[in-house]
Formats: sequence, structure tokens, C-alpha cells
Amino acid sequence: MHKYKNHSEKLELIRTGKLSLSENVEYFLKRIESERQLNAFNFVFTDCINDAGLIEKKIKEGTAGRLAGMVIAIKDVLAIKEKPLTCSSNILKTFESIYTATAVQKLIDEDAVIIGKTNCDEFAMGSSNENSVFGPVLNPHDNLRVPGGSSGGSAVAVAANLCDASLGTDTGGSIRQPAAFCGIFGLKPTYGRVSRYGLTAYGSSFDTIGPFARNIDDLALLIEVISGLDEKDSTSSNQPVIDYTSSLKQKRNFKIGLPKEYFAEGLDREIRDAIEEQIERLKSSGNEIIDISLPHTEYSIPTYYILTTAEASSNLARYDGAHYGFREKQSNNLNDMYRLSRSKGFGSEVKRRIMLGTYVLSAGYYDAYYRKAQKVRRLLKQDFDNAFKMVDLILTPTTPTTAFKIGEKSTDPLEMYLMDIYTTSANLAGIPGINIPIGKNSEGLPIGMQAMSKEFDELSLLQFSSQL
Ligand code: GLN
Repeated sequence: MHKYKNHSEKLELIRTGKLSLSENVEYFLKRIESERQLNAFNFVFTDCINDAGLIEKKIKEGTAGRLAGMVIAIKDVLAIKEKPLTCSSNILKTFESIYTATAVQKLIDEDAVIIGKTNCDEFAMGSSNENSVFGPVLNPHDNLRVPGGSSGGSAVAVAANLCDASLGTDTGGSIRQPAAFCGIFGLKPTYGRVSRYGLTAYGSSFDTIGPFARNIDDLALLIEVISGLDEKDSTSSNQPVIDYTSSLKQKRNFKIGLPKEYFAEGLDREIRDAIEEQIERLKSSGNEIIDISLPHTEYSIPTYYILTTAEASSNLARYDGAHYGFREKQSNNLNDMYRLSRSKGFGSEVKRRIMLGTYVLSAGYYDAYYRKAQKVRRLLKQDFDNAFKMVDLILTPTTPTTAFKIGEKSTDPLEMYLMDIYTTSANLAGIPGINIPIGKNSEGLPIGMQAMSKEFDELSLLQFSSQL
């Protein structure tokens, strides 16, 4: 009953009276209810059904926005006025936001229907969505497996057809990795392309907001809508926003780089085979494939975990029990109140990162760790700058393995951190990256391929994916 290939087809069905938006929203609300075991949503906005009638009328009158009637879920680290904003943390479990994030406001301004807030790893720290005060999210392809993280709920909401699209955030892979584990498209834009106003800060020099979708047309439309300069975020860029949707179908041949460091030991055999198959297809359709090297790749994980924990330790200092969020009332003095509120409010992974970050910033270790990592970040960026002198795109696996079992890595943080081996480098360099679903392995689990481009060249990623 609710079959459409992309948003423009949906709009046409509504406009011609073949699809009722109210029924469509009801359908998604019922799907969320019947798939509750997936635990994809922290909060469902059942009253969004009230927006449907009005938007439907606008569509028929021809006055509706570009996203009219698109049903979208929002990761619970993004602020929406007078709605809960928990970051899946006990410390913000009862917190409500007093303003709306710019990216979300842009969706609302284009008449999207916001259906709820999705589960995620606490403060976006994790690769499995197991670090949530609301419990783990299940992978719809195999309920014993993780959906990836930290934007696990946003990926599952789209993969399990609980909405049309969603927003997630990506600091080190949190859009691309869950998109790969769930078999959908996910785009991490260039740093500064999308305003971070209203995004709860984790690693401020890494954080980005981006869309998940089941088709590339909707992904292009969403990134077009949420991009742009915002006076409320001084790091947002004034680069003009490209009309991605109308240039999407342009046929192009690409120069594609394959970095040898991303195809080394540790990569799952079936993922390697699936990517090689794509490479053969790309060659035979006229693209040029070039072997390249990104020599500092091995340092990306340590550099990422030094710099982001440092930034997190500072960003999360604001949760002290005094201003907002959870406060431990059974305390004898102010210091006790801070200590107990934070001890009980934060989960163990968040505490581990605050301690790591505090350590690398402390006198005596600052030069050895923090300053050195900043220098390595620069070298990693240079690797990409050099590569993009020769190629338009860099193609890699998105993840070293397909979705792993719930509980399999949660007791070993290092094992978990290694899941980010192919994704953190784009955040260190500030460049965009996309996950393209390219099939399934012998167990029926999705396989993802990553494409990266130079800064502000999201268009190439979208055109390439569309062509593929
Ligand atoms: N998995 C990575 C981490 O744990 C990335 C998180 C993210 O992108 N928000 O930090």
C-alpha cells in the first residue's frame, strides 16, 4: 500500500490523491509499535499525525516545502524545542530542550513530519549502540546483532521502514558504520557544511550532522536542505550550497583511488570480495582505478581517541548537577554533589573517555599526547590532500567486519575502537564520506562500501553512488 521509490514519487502520489499522508504517518506509527523490540526510538511523537492533514492540504495547493510529508526521525543528541533531549544518558534523562537545532528547523521549514527521537550510544560515544540508558538497539537483519553506532537507532528506523529517513551525527563514523551494518545509505558531510547549532557537543572539531536514507535521491535532497551557513555556528561554512538533486543524474567517469592501507590484514574476506566485484564493474564502465597510499593511516585510531576524548572531557564538564540534568540530592557539600551527580549520571564508556581526555590534557602529558596528536592530525590531512591531487574519490570498506553480536565486544574497549578503523580518518581530515550498501554476505548481513571526496565535494559522492 505504501510503496514509493523516493520522495518525489511520494509527493506525486499525495498530490494526485493516491496516497493519504495521514494514513502514511499512521502506518509508520504502527510499524514503530509492532517493531518495538528493535528499541530504535527513545521517544515517538504520536501527535505528529496532526501535522499530516495540514501538510497534505499544502501539497495539493502547491504551497508545500521541498520535504513535504517526508517522515523523519531525529537522533536524540539534536535539540527540538519542548521535546526531550537525553543523549541516551541518565544525566539528561529528564531534560527538555528550549530551542531547536538548525538542521532540524530546516527540515520543519520544508514541511517534513518529525516522528520521534532515536536511540544512540550515550553522548554519541560508541560503535554498537550498546551504551544507552534506554538499552541496546537490535539490528533488523539479525536481532542478535548490533546495528552499529553511535547513530544505531537512526539507522534502524530507516532500515526497518519505520520512517522515510533520519538524521544522525558522525564524529568518527557514527553515520557510515551503522549505515553499513544496516544496509542503507548514510552521508557524513564536510565539517562545517551543516550547522552544529543544537547538536550536543562531543568532539566539537569533529562533529557533523548528516542523513540516512534508503535511496540516493532522498539522501541528496536532505543534505541539500540541511546544509548552509548559520550565524549561530561560527564554524559553519559560507561555501554556496550546490543543487545536488538536479545534478545527481549527470553521468561522469571518476578517477578512483584505492588506498592499500585500507585493504590490509584484518579485513573480512567477504567484504573484500564484494568490493573487488564493484571495482571490476567500475572499471568496465569506464572509470579509472588507481592504487594509492595514505601512509599515516595506522595513526588515525590513536589520534582520534586522544583528540576526541580531550574535547569531550571539556565539553562534558557542563554536566555538573548544578545547571541542568540529574542531581544527586544525598550529598553533604558542593564538591560531593558534583562528584556524585557525575558518577551516577554518566555511564562507564563516557566516564572512561572523560578520564582519558583529562589525562591527555593534563600538565606534563599535554605535549606528549595532545599536542603530538594535533600534529599527526595535520599529517593525516596532508595524506588526503596529496591523494586528491590524483583522484576524485577514494574507495574503501566502511567497516572491517559485518555487524557483530550484541555483547561480543562490549567488555573490550580496544576491540570496539577498532571498528572505527576506516571511518575516523575522514573526521580527522574534515572531508565527507558516504556509505553505499553493496550487498549481503553468506549470513545475510549487509556489506557497506565507503567513498570519500575532497572537502565540499559531496556532489561527487552523490553522483558516484547514484551511478553505482
Ligand atoms: N564509534 C566512534 C566512537 O566511539 C565514533 C562515534 C561517533 O562518530 N559519534 O567515538
